[in-house]
Amino acid sequence: MDAVIKPLRAAGSDADNTSGDGSGRPSRSEAEAAVKVLLKYIGENTNREGLIDTPRRVVEAYDELFRGYHQNGEELLERTFGETAGYDDFVLVRDIGFTSHCEHHVMPFYGNAHIAYAPVDRVVGLSKLARLVDVFASRLQTQEHLTAQVVNAIEKTLKPRGVAVLIEAEHTCMSVRGVGKQDASTLTTRFTGLFRDDAQLQARFLTMVRGPGR
Ligand code: ZN
Repeated sequence: MDAVIKPLRAAGSDADNTSGDGSGRPSRSEAEAAVKVLLKYIGENTNREGLIDTPRRVVEAYDELFRGYHQNGEELLERTFGETAGYDDFVLVRDIGFTSHCEHHVMPFYGNAHIAYAPVDRVVGLSKLARLVDVFASRLQTQEHLTAQVVNAIEKTLKPRGVAVLIEAEHTCMSVRGVGKQDASTLTTRFTGLFRDDAQLQARFLTMVRGPGR
């Protein structure tokens, strides 16, 4: 799933105007030209001062916003720690803020992810779970896929007794355009192992994430 894509060649290099690197990926100047087309399409004059550097800036912003295509989420979780002093409850990291982009409109959706897993012997550094969300969020997504990909990466690498993920997000393609519903939030959940089979455990997770006093 983690496509290996060669890094962009630097703007201004000899081959800058050729058609990519043979992988089918357009060059940076082709990407900038495409942005220019969109700006013209909306009725802009791309030669006016304020817009001269906009295509370059948009492509640079895309490099940053979609860096996740060059990162491997599962690799992040490979380093684990065995000294858990017999800890046998689940580990919860909540309120992991993220921004992603919907694959239907390439508009931002943003919110919080809450991740719990029930470790077997070994645990992973807590910041790694936040970075895992970041890797998958920095790609075009649906919230459902984002939720599933986070769960699957944890399942595959840590092989825990169970994983619970709840993601809540606001989609600007709904709040800014389309139906214009400003306060709507979308919740997605996925439970595996103990969290799927043990209703009490699942309820504890949901209370810790969404319950009263939060
Ligand atoms: Zn959308």
